Amino acid sequence: MIQEARLVETFMALARTASPSRQEGHLAREIAGRLQTLGATVEEDNSRPATGSDTGNLVARIQGNTAVAPLLLNAHMDTVEPCRGVQPVLQAGVITASGDTILGADDKSAIAIILEVLTVLREEGLTHGPLEVVLTTCEEIGLLGAKHLDTRLVTARAGFALDARDPEGLVTRAPSANRLHFRVRGQDAHAGAAPEEGINAIALAAAAIQRTPLGRLDAETTCNIGIIRGGLATNIVPPEVEVAGEARSHDEAKLEAVTNAMVAAFGDVVEEQRALLGRSDAPSLEHRVERDFTRFHLADGDPVVRLALKAAGKLGRELRCKTTGGGSDANVFFQNGIPVGVLGTGMRDVHTLRESIAVADMVRCAELVLAILDLHATGNQ
Ligand SMILES: [Zn+2]
Repeated sequence: MIQEARLVETFMALARTASPSRQEGHLAREIAGRLQTLGATVEEDNSRPATGSDTGNLVARIQGNTAVAPLLLNAHMDTVEPCRGVQPVLQAGVITASGDTILGADDKSAIAIILEVLTVLREEGLTHGPLEVVLTTCEEIGLLGAKHLDTRLVTARAGFALDARDPEGLVTRAPSANRLHFRVRGQDAHAGAAPEEGINAIALAAAAIQRTPLGRLDAETTCNIGIIRGGLATNIVPPEVEVAGEARSHDEAKLEAVTNAMVAAFGDVVEEQRALLGRSDAPSLEHRVERDFTRFHLADGDPVVRLALKAAGKLGRELRCKTTGGGSDANVFFQNGIPVGVLGTGMRDVHTLRESIAVADMVRCAELVLAILDLHATGNQ
């Protein structure tokens, strides 16, 4: 039923249409046209001002022909850069870009799979429940589309995101994440003539980073310093440094502890330096902690998990429940009371110029989605 050649053709067409975050408009119009041809009603939400994109999120509704609760299918339309002029190449069953760009299988493979499944439902006249396809913008720059999605357009209370790698896996656990920004202020001075008058902000930041827990802290907690910016010239004692990092954990208490430890590392270094200098005004520190996304955990007995596992079983496959260290739109849906399991499309080496996808994996994912919809239509979970 899934037509491999058609699926590949759809994917390649989508891959050729550039859609960096905030510039998904062109791709959105192309997809909306395809969805309408398949009998869907397509609405664009009003998230443009909040995300800064040239399009809102798309919510496409496909009427069911049996009375069961609607099911949500989700993918994101944006890709990371460089993504202009993508020339997808199919060789030995694997699609790659020509080498100068990413491929955009993250997440256009998902969109192609959803379109293929909808096509099959229609041409085979299959029994299926009502579907709501939610295609978001700006996922790659902080899940912005999903965060600003007009949830009034979504009535489904469960579903699947297609935004992971392994077509034999279902991601059921993702962490919470905090973003941290620090601004360390010292005192500028001529590095040769009057270094005594300076307070070196780079040295302070380095000392603070030295005391910050980094890397994998335990099985469910990670921490990173990812950006450092500061200094003016080699002959100036640097007056200011900006440091940014993040912490993630599947456990909120651990996340709070590591976040506090990072803040304390910077705070302590600045305090100690003030005491040493006998000053109350310098050095100084500003910091900001922002919630990036909140964890999602689907229990083994969750209807979404049972549905996916049972559908895989009908195909003679075994789907493994997986934990990820990354966040996705699924985190946001979960927070909005919509449990969403994340299926793998086969995308590999995403966010690199080596990105690729095996056609067979895309087909496997499409077959699984079709089996899920078939099982869902029977009301059997
Ligand atoms: Zn993605």
